[in-house]
Amino acid sequence: MVKEIKRKSGRKADEMRPISAKVGIIPNADGSAMYKSGETIAIAAVYGPKKMHPQHSQNPAKGTLRCTYSMLSFSVTDRIRPGPNRRSTEISKIIEWALDPVVMLDNYPNMVVDVHIHMTQADAGTRCAGINAAAMALAHAGIPMKNMVSSIAAGKLDKTVVLDLDKYEDSDFEEGEGSTDIPMSFTDDGKLTHIQVDGYISKEQLKQAIEMAKKASGKIYEVQEKALKEIEK
Ligand code: ADP
Repeated sequence: MVKEIKRKSGRKADEMRPISAKVGIIPNADGSAMYKSGETIAIAAVYGPKKMHPQHSQNPAKGTLRCTYSMLSFSVTDRIRPGPNRRSTEISKIIEWALDPVVMLDNYPNMVVDVHIHMTQADAGTRCAGINAAAMALAHAGIPMKNMVSSIAAGKLDKTVVLDLDKYEDSDFEEGEGSTDIPMSFTDDGKLTHIQVDGYISKEQLKQAIEMAKKASGKIYEVQEKALKEIEK
């Protein structure tokens, strides 16, 4: 019997934060969505497909998915300097890679689909929330997709595998072995499109973390699907 870890939030090891989603939040965009997980809120707006500029970035074989992630200056308590930085450039690429396997842009040579992802509040898990909002916004924009993508992190607090680390657990938890954060993204038929491992974890516990996140991704998918159906009414 594994000893149940005491989380500051009171959540069980395999309990994610409360989630909600809404589609169609930005009327000027071709597609848009909001995804909220606890205190983390992501909004995403899709523009396109449209002609890719500059011309030298055009791909004549297929369309390009271009994601831009940013944390708004008021998204955390210490004000963030606006504009791109190393972290936001990296997360933008990761969001593209997480969504690329499902987005079907073969019929859009030389075109680009722009996805702008902004964090209005950030309490860890922002790349996952951003991916969830972006996937819904792409579907809302009518971009052909093989699957929906649902993203969540699992990880380790001291010796216990846990789901969905919040900011305290991700950065400030220092007991025992500390924490490991593993953001992941899954298609609605359970295939991984993205995984990152920040910290140390054994092979056995990694398997457990993946299973935990995969199960939770099914619940996220239900919320995303419901939000997309509500806009169709
Ligand atoms: P993720 O948000 O995907 O978990 P990180 O692990 O890089 O990505 O960040 C964890 C959390 O740390 C963020 O969600 C945010 O709450 C906080 N954070 C990240 N960058 C900054 C920053 N420049 N200033 C203040 N807080 C930050």
